[in-house]
Amino acid sequence: MPPTRVNREQFAALVTGWFARHARDLPWRRPGFPPWGTLVSEFMLQQTPVVRVVPRLDEWLTRWPAPADLAAAAPGDAVRAWESLGYPRRALNLHACAVAITERFDGAVPSDVDALLTLPGVGDYTARAVAVFAFGVRAPVVDTNVRRVIARAVDGHPDASTPNAKRDLPAMTALLPADDDAAARFNAGMMELGALICTARSPKCDLCPLADVCAWRSAGYPEIEIVRKPRQKKYEGSDRQARGALLKRLRTDAHPVPRAELAALVADPAQFDRALTGLIQDGLVVTTAHDLFALP
Ligand code: SF4
Repeated sequence: MPPTRVNREQFAALVTGWFARHARDLPWRRPGFPPWGTLVSEFMLQQTPVVRVVPRLDEWLTRWPAPADLAAAAPGDAVRAWESLGYPRRALNLHACAVAITERFDGAVPSDVDALLTLPGVGDYTARAVAVFAFGVRAPVVDTNVRRVIARAVDGHPDASTPNAKRDLPAMTALLPADDDAAARFNAGMMELGALICTARSPKCDLCPLADVCAWRSAGYPEIEIVRKPRQKKYEGSDRQARGALLKRLRTDAHPVPRAELAALVADPAQFDRALTGLIQDGLVVTTAHDLFALP
């Protein structure tokens, strides 16, 4: 529940009022943005920052404005268009998702969380985000930014603990306004507040709409204990880099590429074998003839 000095409606009003004035102008927030666009954006945002997603999202929706358009394309076209967004299995999942929507939902993105969860590559977070932001369903959407704002402003802790749906979803539900539209705006506002103001390392409390009611601040503003994430493995020289090099080569060629040409891109033969085998197992690369490889 919100701090005792304000009730749920007042807490939400502080966040949504700030959001109305300071929200970034992002494509998925514009009036009339289609549910399909919201779904594509959520796939892209899963592991890629907003600034890199926005231009690619625009290209995708121009090329494939509806699920049926992407479903009619080859999966390899999706992988090719994914380009530098990283973690390209998302492109295959998105293509499979478009096929499922076309075949099972008459080409219309479903609005129901349970129906969304039946789609390939759609997990609990993505299903909720699409239901709330595309259709205005009243449901909690909790990402790392929302968890941090709740931890500080409501619970008085310096930072969020590890994700736990059984705790996080009820905590957000307790803050949601009763009205569907207001709840959706509050969800988006909490995310934006965590992304722009209540950041992990340097919260800008003097700009925060919750400054006067924030439990962490009023508890004496203890120092932030940064929970350091385990360092990401170095990209340079990694199998991931090798996979990226092979995919880049296959993306730029409309014809199958011989094994020897691909092998020349990776200095370590064992790493090349691992990378190519992994791509084939993931469905990102297919063998078209003996020792010839292509996107699916
Ligand atoms: S007052 Fe500071 S710590 Fe509290 S919610 Fe706002 S930015 Fe975060």
